[in-house]
Amino acid sequence: MSHFIDILENYKRIDENINNARLKFGRNDKVSIMAVTKTVPVDRINYAISLGIELIGENRVQEFLEKEDEYDKNCEIHFIGGLQNNKVKYIIDKVKIIESADSYKLIDEISRQAQKKSCDIGILLEVNIAGEVTKNGIPPREIKSYLEYADQLPGVDVKGLMTIPPFALDGKNDLYFYNMQQLYLEHKDKYNLDILSMGLSADYENAIKYGSNIVRIGTALFGNR
Ligand SMILES: *Cc1c(COP(=O)(O)O)cnc(C)c1O
Repeated sequence: MSHFIDILENYKRIDENINNARLKFGRNDKVSIMAVTKTVPVDRINYAISLGIELIGENRVQEFLEKEDEYDKNCEIHFIGGLQNNKVKYIIDKVKIIESADSYKLIDEISRQAQKKSCDIGILLEVNIAGEVTKNGIPPREIKSYLEYADQLPGVDVKGLMTIPPFALDGKNDLYFYNMQQLYLEHKDKYNLDILSMGLSADYENAIKYGSNIVRIGTALFGNR
């Protein structure tokens, strides 16, 4: 096993920041670090897993398929990138959760492929919380209909919500994080949701303030891409 001192130091700092944020914002529940692996070589990813990171985030189908055989198996993999309908079949039995479910057509296809492979798959609804025209994601006002719809589909289990707010330094996205938290709490009990995935390298501490329980971290862990 190779050692990567940069990843070790970054991990220690992130872990400490997360624990400080949990204390500061009174979070007693678990906050998971997801290592976001786009462009990162396998030996660096496996080193991160060896440090105790249990969750891996994949953006690109092709890149993922090329690397996944060599991943250490004691981690959970989520797909977090834009996903075309015709690619669902390649990843459906290789990931635990697809976090980027953002259209009825995609959710239908996920359900179809899950049934075909007899696997149950978790999804998160990706929310376009800031209403950005350049971004994928479901408008907040449609989330209720999506939950009702997905609830009756075989093979898929909606586990929660995910968002990628506008790029901003820590503190600037508070309103979006707050709105995500409200949306999540509004539907959590009825639909049995338990994941709120938000916060990246630039703003994960504030996402924790608003209830995020998966922070998706690339740059702050592995360095610039
Ligand atoms: C790249 C990416 C991240 C991580 O972003 P960093 O700023 O590098 O931490 C998180 N979520 C998604 C969906 C991404 O594509």
